[in-house]
Amino acid sequence: MTSVMNHDTYDYVVVGAGSAGCVVAARLSEQPDVRVLLLEAGGPDSHPDVQNPVMWPTLFKGELDWGYDTQPLRHANDRIDHIPRGKMLGGCHSHNASAWVRGHSADFDTWADQGNAGWDWQSVLRLYRKIENWQGPASELRGTGGPMWVTPNAEPNPIAAAFVEAGSTVGIPSVADNNGPTMEGTSFFNLTIKDGRRYSVVHAYLQPAIERPNLTVLTCAETQRLSLDGTRCVGVNYVHDDTEKTAFAEQEVILCAGVIGSPRALLLSGIGPAKDLNELGIPVVADLAGVGRNLQDHPLLGGINYECKGALPEPRNNGAESAMWWRSDPQLTSPNIQAVILEFPFATPELVGRLPSEHCYAIAPSVARPASRGTVKLVSADPSVAPAIDVNFLARDADIEAMLVAVDICREMGASSAYNDLRKREIMPGNLGRADMIEFIRQSVSTYFHPTGTCKMGIDAQSVVDPELRVCGITGLRVADASVMPTVTTGNTNAPTVMIGEMAAELVQVSP
Ligand SMILES: Cc1cc2nc3c(=O)[nH]c(=O)nc-3n(C[C@H](O)[C@H](O)[C@H](O)COP(=O)(O)OP(=O)(O)OC[C@H]3O[C@@H](n4cnc5c(N)ncnc54)[C@H](O)[C@@H]3O)c2cc1C
Repeated sequence: MTSVMNHDTYDYVVVGAGSAGCVVAARLSEQPDVRVLLLEAGGPDSHPDVQNPVMWPTLFKGELDWGYDTQPLRHANDRIDHIPRGKMLGGCHSHNASAWVRGHSADFDTWADQGNAGWDWQSVLRLYRKIENWQGPASELRGTGGPMWVTPNAEPNPIAAAFVEAGSTVGIPSVADNNGPTMEGTSFFNLTIKDGRRYSVVHAYLQPAIERPNLTVLTCAETQRLSLDGTRCVGVNYVHDDTEKTAFAEQEVILCAGVIGSPRALLLSGIGPAKDLNELGIPVVADLAGVGRNLQDHPLLGGINYECKGALPEPRNNGAESAMWWRSDPQLTSPNIQAVILEFPFATPELVGRLPSEHCYAIAPSVARPASRGTVKLVSADPSVAPAIDVNFLARDADIEAMLVAVDICREMGASSAYNDLRKREIMPGNLGRADMIEFIRQSVSTYFHPTGTCKMGIDAQSVVDPELRVCGITGLRVADASVMPTVTTGNTNAPTVMIGEMAAELVQVSP
């Protein structure tokens, strides 16, 4: 990647080269007369463990991860969880498990019903079709010829195949494509993997754009604050080569720094809840109550673990190839629980000692529509101090009830005949009464890596951006990344974030 600084002044400055930022910068730079700067705090994505899609768990807490830990989880025995976030070109799409899940149509129709005109399922479907280069069977719902290579799973691990088969033993159908007419049932993930290598937004969007003379990509350039002239955003202040610099944007700054980075940059710039800013001595530019609030993540259990009969089959593709979506209550109109198979053992630090040293696989249940909400708050006006991340898992009883049902279904699937050739025994949790199972859930809950919502899009008092993604009360500034989701989608969050990037690029051009 080039990292040549051509100008101090651009038309657009994009902060953060992650799932959304790469899309925004690449699309805006398609107009040859427009100058675009993309600033990324991390370095390149060239590490072999980034490019090998099965190695994602090895990146946790390493130099390519921001290294964020949560506040003590008040409803999970005050445990502390790690929230991995990719710090490199591609952001979390360079760190993630390569599953491509667009979400349930109801996710987007709900956003639109809340006042976010233009974000309904039919509208976002147009963008998904524009994004995708789908390699599976032709379907009106899928796109071909777009930048993102998306493929059905070839030659899945027998552990993952058994999970898809196991659904029928508990009355859950298998679906051919969870990005097709329905996601509800068991299925193999679509993958953003090509020829055995990760295929991220860097490959799909940034690399084809990088030679454009009007696009400058600067790595190891961390934005600290927005540059504001009153309530107009005129650029960003960033550090590069240990030097503080300013890049000016004649049109707009688009903040794509992710669910932690975007609220952090706004708060450091005086955009956020006035009371919190006053306490830290940060001058208030816009009193926006919702900045850093509304944090939502899918709680994932680590996990229902099994000892394998013989040697564990080697993890394939992303090591987590199949999933299940279902309803914890038949009265619901769409799925609210998910589970994922893991072709390796998976337990929280508190429970990992219960596992034998090898030959284990896990089923990890999750709540796909959590009711609990958390926060991202600054603890200092110093940009080098990490914010306090309170994910607040299991704060609402509804999440515990949904998780109990998910655990029951997954244990039944794991005990079914589909696993007869693989399963030696269930290691944990085993048959537990309700109180003990809830205690197991509190000990084993962790992130599904899908935090969202901290710069919520909407039209109410808690909204940080309007439906055109413009920051309320500030001109020349948008946010476009997973932080703008009003509610987390029912599935994994990468594809919706790429879609948000595409939407942002269009909005910048049609509604300045
Ligand atoms: C381990 C893991 C596994 C996952 N697995 C999946 C999966 O299989 N499928 C799926 O759909 N989703 C998955 N996700 C979630 C998904 O990848 C994210 O929701 C999505 O990538 C978020 O995109 P984003 O653009 O909001 O943020 P990011 O991709 O995090 O991009 C933000 C970028 O901004 C940069 N940045 C932050 N602050 C600054 C600053 N101050 N200055 C400059 N740059 C800055 C960051 O370094 C980063 O590159 C996973 C995530 C992780 C971490």
